[in-house]
Amino acid sequence: MMQKSKVFKWSLYLIILVFLTIPLFYLIINKYLYITNSTNNQQFIHKDNDKPLNNPHNTTFPSTDAKNTYLKRSFSGPNLKYNNEGIPVLMYHSISNKKGNELQLSKDLFEAQLKFLKDKNYTTLSLDELYDFIAFNKPIPKKSVAITFDDGYVDNYLNAYPILKKYNFRATIFVITDNVDKYSHTINSSQIKEMSINGIDIMSHTEKHEDLSTLTYDKQLYTMNTSRKFLEKILEKKVNYIAYPYGRWNKDTLKAAKNSDYTMAFSTSGTWTDKSDDIYKLDRVYISSNFDLSEFERRLTNRNYNNIHSKNILSQ
Ligand SMILES: [Zn+2]
Repeated sequence: MMQKSKVFKWSLYLIILVFLTIPLFYLIINKYLYITNSTNNQQFIHKDNDKPLNNPHNTTFPSTDAKNTYLKRSFSGPNLKYNNEGIPVLMYHSISNKKGNELQLSKDLFEAQLKFLKDKNYTTLSLDELYDFIAFNKPIPKKSVAITFDDGYVDNYLNAYPILKKYNFRATIFVITDNVDKYSHTINSSQIKEMSINGIDIMSHTEKHEDLSTLTYDKQLYTMNTSRKFLEKILEKKVNYIAYPYGRWNKDTLKAAKNSDYTMAFSTSGTWTDKSDDIYKLDRVYISSNFDLSEFERRLTNRNYNNIHSKNILSQ
């Protein structure tokens, strides 16, 4: 009799526990669920999708609430590729209707390129996803691309960001941190914070856009650490990636990047990036305003296409 009542008591506890846990799980799953529909059409679904966004652009874009965390996706199914195949990492600078510099792409041209990516079912990777692909050989969809911007021009926020949101694309901006909140042509802290919450990663492009190959090891370490800490303070999360100004580096640069806690770094030119690249000087594909859509497609689809450009900063 004793035994039976004990069993009953514990069963009751168990039932109560299960009933308490179910709504908790439901809440957690519902908040952060994202579903992979098919390999070429990844949908990132957030509970907050339908909420108005705290930004001036009236477009919907999946956002988390406060803590800026975009979950890494795991890709499954057919049509995947591994890191021996490589991926184009596109490098942009300014998205502006000003003319006269090949680093300034018009809004129309930029939008046409993103529409092209969307129409062809490209998946835009976050740099965390790219890192997992390069470093750990986690598979990604065959048609994957990463979109990056150098320097941190305010037009990235004003012009590129609304278009990226429209297409629900991820991208990364490498910022010269000493310019932040100092010059009107550079994105400011609140824009950095807002974009980061809305799927645009903000990473380091050093403190003052130094040519790293001319600096001592200690000075390289300093600019890398200072810029990383500056961004981490704004973003309240770890900054793991850096792009070298002018794409210039020396042996010390690779060591300094590693020792200042970056796990992946980019140069400015090259072809597609794959596992044969040093993870501290990954290739990127240069995109110029002189390119029409067919040249864009050529660079996007031809991994061996020779990639040449001369300069990579508009103004300081
Ligand atoms: Zn630059």
